[in-house]
Amino acid sequence: MLSETTPLLRLSQGHLNLLEACPRKFQHTYLEQLNTPLNPEHEEHQTLGSQFHLLMQQREMGLPIGSFLEADTQLKSWMSGFSNAAPEILTPTDSQTFRESEHYRILQTQDYLLTVVYDLFITDSQKAQILDWKTYPKPPNQRKLEQNWQTRLYLYVLAETSDYLPKNISMTYWFVQSESQPQKITFNYDNVQHQQTAKKLNQLLDKLTHWLADYQKNQLLPQVPENSQDCNYCHFATRCERSQVSPEHQKNLPNLADIQEVSF
Ligand code: SF4
Repeated sequence: MLSETTPLLRLSQGHLNLLEACPRKFQHTYLEQLNTPLNPEHEEHQTLGSQFHLLMQQREMGLPIGSFLEADTQLKSWMSGFSNAAPEILTPTDSQTFRESEHYRILQTQDYLLTVVYDLFITDSQKAQILDWKTYPKPPNQRKLEQNWQTRLYLYVLAETSDYLPKNISMTYWFVQSESQPQKITFNYDNVQHQQTAKKLNQLLDKLTHWLADYQKNQLLPQVPENSQDCNYCHFATRCERSQVSPEHQKNLPNLADIQEVSF
């Protein structure tokens, strides 16, 4: 257990994804603050993704965005594609009781503060919708997205911090860069999923508490098993003495779809 004077550790979906994938990677990234280098192409894409999020926020706040769109054809094309594909998302209706971009929520679980930021949050008297913008093409593997901690944590925190029943909560990802027009994937929620997430989350946090206690006694967090494919695509392979691919190969990592887009 962390002591009473230890500040509660904030955890986002990115932390949980890393912890589940490889605790040692969590150690390198968050405890030791070692940076993962991005190649210029990824960096440029990430910047564009951040700008799109900012424009969507400004638009929601009623601020003018025309001059920004005129200055960048990529952003203009994403925005106009999204406006055509989902006009109902962009236009408030009388039945909506609340809508906010960059909606922030926090939930204490054990000694941790679980934090989420919804790109857009819309409610009416019956339902609550979480919307998330992605500036890469729709991924073929929907199951993976469902299992990603972003989906699980975002839905879980809303159910725990609001009066909405799980069955009345949903999360929709919009992929604005999909081929012909933006595409979406919606995940509905229910009590069974909520209980499953609660169990998995508490198991993971229990493990983290033990690992952190051990880390304070100079014991490193666990690695994935030897010969794991994950090490082939990891920037910490050399540090972990798991180097199996050339540094040149590693430069091209990670995949665009794995990059966390920055929320404002
Ligand atoms: S190289 Fe392997 S063990 Fe080390 S952090 Fe990366 S995935 Fe984990």
